Amino acid sequence: MKISGDWISQPGTQALCATLTAAGYRALFVGGCVRNALMARAVTDIDIATDALPEIVTKIAETAGFRVVPTGIEHGTVTVIAQGVAHEVTTFRRDIATDGRHATVTFATDIAQDAARRDFTMNALYAQADGSIIDPLGGLADLQARHLRFVGEASARIREDYLRILRFFRFYAIYGDSSRGIDPEGLAACAENLEGLADLSRERVGAEMRKLLAAANPAPAIASMAQAGVLAQILPGASPRALAPLMHLEAGLAPDWQARLAVIGGENLTEALRLSKAETVTIMRIRDEIGSTVTPAALGWKFGAQVAQAVVLARAAMLEAPLPIGWQSEITRGVNAALPVTAADLMPALQGTDLGKRLREIEARWLASNLYLGKAALLA
Ligand code: ATP
Ligand code: MG
Repeated sequence: MKISGDWISQPGTQALCATLTAAGYRALFVGGCVRNALMARAVTDIDIATDALPEIVTKIAETAGFRVVPTGIEHGTVTVIAQGVAHEVTTFRRDIATDGRHATVTFATDIAQDAARRDFTMNALYAQADGSIIDPLGGLADLQARHLRFVGEASARIREDYLRILRFFRFYAIYGDSSRGIDPEGLAACAENLEGLADLSRERVGAEMRKLLAAANPAPAIASMAQAGVLAQILPGASPRALAPLMHLEAGLAPDWQARLAVIGGENLTEALRLSKAETVTIMRIRDEIGSTVTPAALGWKFGAQVAQAVVLARAAMLEAPLPIGWQSEITRGVNAALPVTAADLMPALQGTDLGKRLREIEARWLASNLYLGKAALLA
């Protein structure tokens, strides 16, 4: 079994592997790049595992003329820039102590030890520079079955690092097969170890949830999170109920994690997921308008296409109602509309606060007419 792709055949990438190999060390692609190449998905970052110690990688790479940045030297990682492409090169590791959040690592010379400390079998696949796969843990069969499975005993692996609970649901959402369901041992282990979630930083929880909710269909993963008690733990008050209906309504549209989050809800989302100001505004707008009767055109005019689309979809999903006929062209009509009356039409008869008040009244009437009233009618 061999992988290929533009990312692997890049001259800089091949040159870096050749340099390490010529010095007598191994250079193996690992993790997301191998997994995604096997699944014919985009490869965005290149991780390389090696038996060379970080200072040796640095010396070899710099001698070959590559730039080296010590991005994660405490975990054995340096970033090597070869012909403009960044590679995260990490020395084989094995974890010697873990406290649920941090691991004390020691370097290893053996690929089996490096594989054993990784989270899921499909993330423990390696490839040589020519693309040939090395599969120390049977991850290839799991990947082909789209079976997300912990490396080793799930509960023990979670207690080493509770972030793995969220990674479990995230990778299931993206790479799993919802028709076969989530791995039951993994799910049970998550349910048994909920207490560790409280200690995770909200930034990391937020980052995982953004990625999970951007999956093509996050509904089965969110339903499993609810079932295991994970959803209630990280997002108190959230409900998975309307997410599956939203998926049906969304069919064919680009995934919008903010619309999905608005539909799940939860108390104090901003804090729970450390949302930015802009994200909070968007999600709260969607949530506020779910219960309003503002038309698709008026939503488009007030908030722009993305929020308007999210509101229309979320409303239909939550209220179990059909989508309004022609809703997308109505949003576009609103996005392109302009209030037919301007301040100039009302001056000099009106000035200052009176002018502002009158303009707001006119705007409200125009919106209530679904943006149909023209200038004469609005001024009458
Ligand atoms: P993506 O970058 O698409 O999210 P990835 O698999 O590359 O997916 P990263 O978070 O970039 O994920 O991590 C790279 C690899 O490091 C993973 O494939 C996995 O082998 C290992 N890894 C990352 N985080 C953990 C963790 N918390 N516990 C164990 N192994 C991990
Ligand atoms: Mg990655």
